[in-house]
Amino acid sequence: MKKYVLSEKDTPTQWYNIVPDLPRPLLPPLHPVTHEPATAADLEPLLPRAVIEQEMSAERWIDIPEPVQELYRIWRPSPLYRANRLEKALDTPARIYFKYEAVSPAGSHKPNTAVPQVYYNSVEGVKRVTTETGAGQWGSALSFAGSLFGIDVTVYMVKASFQQKPHRHSLMETWGAEVFPSPSTRTQAGRKILAEEPDSPGSLGIAISEAVEDALAHDDTKFALGSAMNHVVLHQTIIGLEARKQFELAEDYPDVVIGCVGGGSNYSGLAFPFMADKLAGHRDTRFIAAEPAACPTLTRGKLTYDYPDVAGLGPLLHMRTVGHGFIPAPIHAGGLRFHGDAPTLCLLHDDGHVEARAYNQNEVFTEAVRFARSEGFVMAPESSHALRGAVAEALAAKEAGEARTILFGFSGHGHFDMGAYDAFLAGKLEDYELPQEEIDAALADLPTIATT
Ligand SMILES: *Cc1c(COP(=O)(O)O)cnc(C)c1O
Repeated sequence: MKKYVLSEKDTPTQWYNIVPDLPRPLLPPLHPVTHEPATAADLEPLLPRAVIEQEMSAERWIDIPEPVQELYRIWRPSPLYRANRLEKALDTPARIYFKYEAVSPAGSHKPNTAVPQVYYNSVEGVKRVTTETGAGQWGSALSFAGSLFGIDVTVYMVKASFQQKPHRHSLMETWGAEVFPSPSTRTQAGRKILAEEPDSPGSLGIAISEAVEDALAHDDTKFALGSAMNHVVLHQTIIGLEARKQFELAEDYPDVVIGCVGGGSNYSGLAFPFMADKLAGHRDTRFIAAEPAACPTLTRGKLTYDYPDVAGLGPLLHMRTVGHGFIPAPIHAGGLRFHGDAPTLCLLHDDGHVEARAYNQNEVFTEAVRFARSEGFVMAPESSHALRGAVAEALAAKEAGEARTILFGFSGHGHFDMGAYDAFLAGKLEDYELPQEEIDAALADLPTIATT
């Protein structure tokens, strides 16, 4: 295993915004009620002004504030590894690299955006931030960031995960956050769902509605989203910008860049700095997004405007979606159960710049265990989807008898997911393929909006 470490002086000081380099204009977020393009004033009750500006920005490079750079240094730059031992285990001529985001205090890539989001809130005098969390990674990241700036954090955690992963909320509480299983009785959105379905396992869409409603009801409170929106993707480009420099140290360049996609932020963050080279005509890199078969947004969803949440309180985003009312099967990759994806990533997928693959959890865990036994690191079920895609590419290279440089995103560790590993090792993990009727039913509920 070879490790490529950037020196601090080579650490990026700006984020990369892909919006001006897209092959065609991105459709704007829309106001959830009027369906007109959302204005900065529409978003102000929810997000700090600096974040709104980034959300709407067409500037290619955006400065990382000095205090954020300083906090990034707690765990950044993150290492890029060459997975020689996995290559040997697969007997492949391919060179496999992974960018290791599990070094952050919360254990995933999510603090890359949690820290700047809470920073901008603190600068603008916000006292409390609300959010949703699925598996608990985003809630942990925001709780960690809240503790750095002395800002209160309220987390609505999808109930199924709250029960499956009790130590995730212990972690958030250790950083000082308050955590409620969602649907909760604290909001109208939560009470409505509970009245209809008292045993609802919850969903990210429901938890977002609760967090948004809570923020809108309090003047000193804003909402923070962990994925999908442009500003989140922007902050995550620190991953790919570092990786690009690390490939210079390795004197190599990826032929294919692979990542797992929940809302699309860690993958876009890794991929977009390389995608810039492709869009400029300098490289012919392939891009592969890996998602769960149980929540197949890119492979089977529809590209249209949809709400980010069940109650329709958040701005409409133009994205590939399986419907905001979608309640996913209880797969262990809780961070990949969002019903939509980042609009920028969806546009690039629609234009053929990004391919998508859907995988079942047993094949994904098979690779995660092989990886743990060859490279040592135990990865999150989410990241294991990216690994599954990387192994498929490595085996295809072997089949074709050709060298190929593969980069995949190791988005987080699996130390809070050992229950899932237990189930897999005991042969008790179930595969869920999402039935077409469920997609059709969830899509039937979407708003109709002309986009031409
Ligand atoms: C949240 C999460 C994801 C999925 O979110 P994206 O926005 O698609 O990156 C992937 N991996 C891990 C470890 C996560 O915590």
